[in-house]
Amino acid sequence: MSRLIFTFAIMTLSLTSLCSCRSTAPEAESTTTEPMPWVVDKFDDIKVLRYEVPGFEKLPLQQKTLIYYLAQATKAGRDILFDQNFKYNLTVRRTLEAIYNKYDGDRTDANFVAMEKYLKKVWFANGIHHHYSNDKFRPEFSREWFAEAVGKYVDPQNLPIEKSLLLDIIFDPALYAKRLNQTDGVDMVTESACNYYEGVTMKEVYDFYTAMRDDNDPTPISYGLNSKLMKDEQGNIVEKVWKLGGMYSAAIEQIIFWLEKAAQVAEEPQKSIINALVNYYRTGNLREFDRYNILWVGDNESNVDFVNGFIEDYGDPLGRKASWEGTVNFIDSTACRRTQILSANAQWFEDNAPIDPKFRKKEVKGVSAKVITVAMLGGDCFPSTPIGINLPNADWIRKEYGSKSVTIDNITYAYDKAAQGNGFNEEFMLRAEDRERIAQHGKLSDDLHTDLHECLGHGSGQLAEGVKGGELKSYTSTLEETRADLFGLYYLGDPKMVEIGLIPSLDVAKAQYADYIMNGMMTQFSRIELGKDVEEAHMRNRKLIAEWCYEKGKENNVIEWVKQDGKSYIVVNDFDALRSLFGELLKEVQRIKSTGDYEAGRKLVEDYAVKIDYDLHKEVLERYAKLGLEPYSGFVNPDYELVEKDGQIVDVKLIYKTDYTEQMLHYSKEWSFLPTLN
Ligand code: ZN
Repeated sequence: MSRLIFTFAIMTLSLTSLCSCRSTAPEAESTTTEPMPWVVDKFDDIKVLRYEVPGFEKLPLQQKTLIYYLAQATKAGRDILFDQNFKYNLTVRRTLEAIYNKYDGDRTDANFVAMEKYLKKVWFANGIHHHYSNDKFRPEFSREWFAEAVGKYVDPQNLPIEKSLLLDIIFDPALYAKRLNQTDGVDMVTESACNYYEGVTMKEVYDFYTAMRDDNDPTPISYGLNSKLMKDEQGNIVEKVWKLGGMYSAAIEQIIFWLEKAAQVAEEPQKSIINALVNYYRTGNLREFDRYNILWVGDNESNVDFVNGFIEDYGDPLGRKASWEGTVNFIDSTACRRTQILSANAQWFEDNAPIDPKFRKKEVKGVSAKVITVAMLGGDCFPSTPIGINLPNADWIRKEYGSKSVTIDNITYAYDKAAQGNGFNEEFMLRAEDRERIAQHGKLSDDLHTDLHECLGHGSGQLAEGVKGGELKSYTSTLEETRADLFGLYYLGDPKMVEIGLIPSLDVAKAQYADYIMNGMMTQFSRIELGKDVEEAHMRNRKLIAEWCYEKGKENNVIEWVKQDGKSYIVVNDFDALRSLFGELLKEVQRIKSTGDYEAGRKLVEDYAVKIDYDLHKEVLERYAKLGLEPYSGFVNPDYELVEKDGQIVDVKLIYKTDYTEQMLHYSKEWSFLPTLN
């Protein structure tokens, strides 16, 4: 279990096809100028968005200043990730940037334009391999043109490798083809281009770390987490540790500099937490990293929080070495208030659930979710970004001290805003009134549906005596997600939600209902290859609910298929009746779970959740493809500026940025501390 790494692919798709909900209008942006765009750049299969940091201005000065220093520390490690991803990434990036900056030819020339696109991709992936597929990028400019440009614009002093090698790195598709190769049977270490190992084989790595392992240690050290493994001049296998005075020292020195500034303005317990991290960066001692993590996971008081370090091991084919990343965030009080209200009313929801009273829980506790606003993203969280964080990763710390699990609301919000106007709802949603309700209430309805699902839905209900759970076998997760979703759908349309102040009107539920049915019966198929079945549990559960309600409400035309101009649309005619159907199905699914009725569960899933009508599927895919939506997204960061008066910090200014290239060049100029080869 580690960070919830919802990649862009998944996220983008989930917004366009799982829940194409829209947000309310942005709060008080400047009235005179045009609103800032949410999508700031597009190239290849990528779009770059910006995110807002609502609530920052209202924070006390001490917290703003703390965020400022932590944000600086987050920017300082960027080069580390480039180098970790591939030994020659900094060489390629700096060469490309030199040409890009000095080029005095025609900037509309096809070769230059193709190089610019390639450079944007390199910035986005923190290297020359695709951030998601791990495949090396194919340049669309010519080798000859590039060789000439290098000769003309790049100072040979700044090129630490042979020019021919540089050209091969970029242009030879077979050389360093994959950043990460986890194919069974190959030497994953020598076949992966990432820079965590050099001159060693997979077997040597295994042997090296097996010898270090102590199976009797109840607090096992994450050996290898913060080092590169390689051979020294005598041929001995050694770890080159990432620490002050070790590998990546120049960047780590900067990180420490800003963390120490942060510690000066932080309050306890955060001051000690930051100091523990600094101590770890100074010593490279992994025990110290554990101590830091234990302190960090125990701090649930501080409003401002951060991640900074060698955290996730997805980039290492052996899952041992961690890539550098950073984020700075603070608590989103609005969203937390939402889940607190739900938790406070948890028993009411349970007592009124439309299920057999004997399956209601006598005493129920809601879980309150922690929702945060990010203020800065760096390293492996940038520009591609997770929408949730679940740390630390060390199993024994999780077991002993727990973990922090948070979702990042302002990132989800930005995805939502960016999806507006991409034509998706216009294409698939027939009625203007539904589109308008989604534009107005979509984000809130989506958030609340998730809150109800997570905070109350999964925890509600109880098993009959003698039922252990597990009876539903392979249908367990689909039926469990169905149950939690139904709980959310049913209660979203309950007047109680208005009464406790969570929604302004039941229009919020209508927005969710129309969208949910459309997605479940149609638009989510855009993620599935033609001819294939629905496999994934959440997708199955949505289809199950929508199809079941369609069939049961058919007589009264609750949900209807409409054909218009040769296109298929699914519309909800009767929202109240649909809500009753959600309640009815919830009752049945709860019964199935509580009694462990495998046969009924199997039948529900197989009848409603799996098979897709071929013609409809084909139509959805064609209509979706025509929209031309990029599958991956990432972000530019805002900037922060200290406002000083008479040598005192009096404020921190938040400045939104909308130019991807400008930000990348700025980072490469001002936040680049490592040598080209490390
Ligand atoms: Zn769930």
